[in-house]
Amino acid sequence: MASSTTRTRSAFVTGGTRGIGLGIATALARSGYAVCITGRGGSSVVSGREALVAAVPGADVSAVAVDVTDPESVARALAEFAAYAGGIDVVCPNAGIFPQTALAELSEDEFRSVLDTNVVGTFSTIKAAVPYLKESRAGRVIMTSSITGSLTGFTGWSHYGASKAAQLGMMRTLAIELAPWNITVNAVLPGNIMTEGLSDLGQDYIDSMAQAVPLGRLGLPEEIGAAVAFFASPEAGYVTGQTIIVDGGQTLPESSEALSLAREIAQEYLVDVSR
Ligand code: NAP
Repeated sequence: MASSTTRTRSAFVTGGTRGIGLGIATALARSGYAVCITGRGGSSVVSGREALVAAVPGADVSAVAVDVTDPESVARALAEFAAYAGGIDVVCPNAGIFPQTALAELSEDEFRSVLDTNVVGTFSTIKAAVPYLKESRAGRVIMTSSITGSLTGFTGWSHYGASKAAQLGMMRTLAIELAPWNITVNAVLPGNIMTEGLSDLGQDYIDSMAQAVPLGRLGLPEEIGAAVAFFASPEAGYVTGQTIIVDGGQTLPESSEALSLAREIAQEYLVDVSR
């Protein structure tokens, strides 16, 4: 296997067919990585690849249908991509689900299915990628966690919050375990990012979230991609076991009054700049 200094660096992004994963894959492709995106469906991987090639003309993009809850197919996809690209330098366990169900209605099966995709899927992806990341000598694991569970709570997401906090526990231990191979392990914590998955939560949810964000809008997938591209860069080589929160300031206000007061004070200025 060629070392990463003599070939194009490569990145494997789970759940890269749309939303945040596609934003991550786009940022890495723009940074010159050969990228492999995965999703569950044959048609979603085709449309994801088309979107990525359209966004980054000339990019080296592979796409493969893989369910992260099936560890053997994840390992197979990584092996095939490593053979194609001559190795793997960056792995982004991003695939995740976020059904919203309050405790009274939440079954053990649903709780387990969220942990299975978000936590066990992250673990299986990293475990199968580590041999390639060791070969890279500058390997990077970059998880997509969330503010939910890691920093905040939200009704209906006890299982999702548990899964996103669990990823960070995994990150801190693996950052120590993998440091001898110069592999760094970090995570991005998105706030509310405008994706297809988020749209499924409905316009009322989107509007109320935009109101709760000091910057006054939801985030974009490419804004998560930019944070991931930093963790992947040579400049971040001494950063491990850390998180970057990309949430437009959503986790900052002590109360809704803190936010409304700031907006009230800024009203005159806001009117001025809108002219
Ligand atoms: P999304 O629009 O629903 O996209 C989810 C992606 O994950 C799709 O590419 C989907 O591919 C893939 N996926 C889902 N289950 C999978 C499985 N079992 N195996 C393989 N791929 C699977 O979601 P998103 O909003 O971009 O969220 C992506 C990640 O960001 C998740 O981990 C989520 O928890 C996290 N996050 C999102 C937000 C937000 O506001 N959007 C905030 C914080 C954290 P297919 O449909 O092709 O299977």
